[in-house]
Amino acid sequence: MQLQFVGCGDAFGSGGRANTCFHVTGAAVNFLIDCGASSLPALKRLDIAREPIDLILITHFHGDHFAGLPFLLLEAQFTRRARPLVIAGPQGIQTKLALAMEAMFEHSSKTQVRFELSVLELRPNETQNLAGVMVTPYPVVHGQSGGPFLAYRAEAEGRVICYSADTEWTETLIPAARNADLFIAEAYYYERIVKNHLSLKTLEGHLGAIDAKRLILTHMSDDMLGRLDKLPYSAAHDGMIVEL
Ligand SMILES: [Zn+2]
Ligand SMILES: [Zn+2]
Repeated sequence: MQLQFVGCGDAFGSGGRANTCFHVTGAAVNFLIDCGASSLPALKRLDIAREPIDLILITHFHGDHFAGLPFLLLEAQFTRRARPLVIAGPQGIQTKLALAMEAMFEHSSKTQVRFELSVLELRPNETQNLAGVMVTPYPVVHGQSGGPFLAYRAEAEGRVICYSADTEWTETLIPAARNADLFIAEAYYYERIVKNHLSLKTLEGHLGAIDAKRLILTHMSDDMLGRLDKLPYSAAHDGMIVEL
């Protein structure tokens, strides 16, 4: 399996990075984790075909994680996608997706799609098989608007990937990421503690309990991006490929 960071930026394009979108492929799986506003151009820049993508997991309804869906869905329509597509995310995703479609492209939410599209609400702590991926959502903590917020533990082909999503520290990240082959963790600031986001210093105190095989930092502000060459951790960059 491999994971490619299509986008690993924050909501404000810090460092010129694209909004959150990770592409995971294996012998039999092909899925995205998050689809921020800039994801379609970012996928095209990396020559990633959209048709073979079977599943898109959405962590929450902030534009930098979710607002790429209308563009992807419209493109799928115009390119006559034939393959079924599953979009899964927090409770309310059907309504939120329709609102985003209407805000960006009027009437687009009412157009009958020609391919089989399933938009599924996921409940925290319930594991289910979606397009060959065993997906377990964990509730995380990221403020009052744009939720519910889910971290994901995704298992496929003998490998486990966890993405923290945007969150302040919460104990659910321990079972979500424990012993994962890859833990992708938000590290918004280096040591400054802010509500709703995770700083590296806070995360560091829990890495022992999590004991992931590999950690890669994402969703970094300029504060973090300016320190990357001095940190003893791997950090994502757009286009980075991780073999699992
Ligand atoms: Zn974000
Ligand atoms: Zn967010």
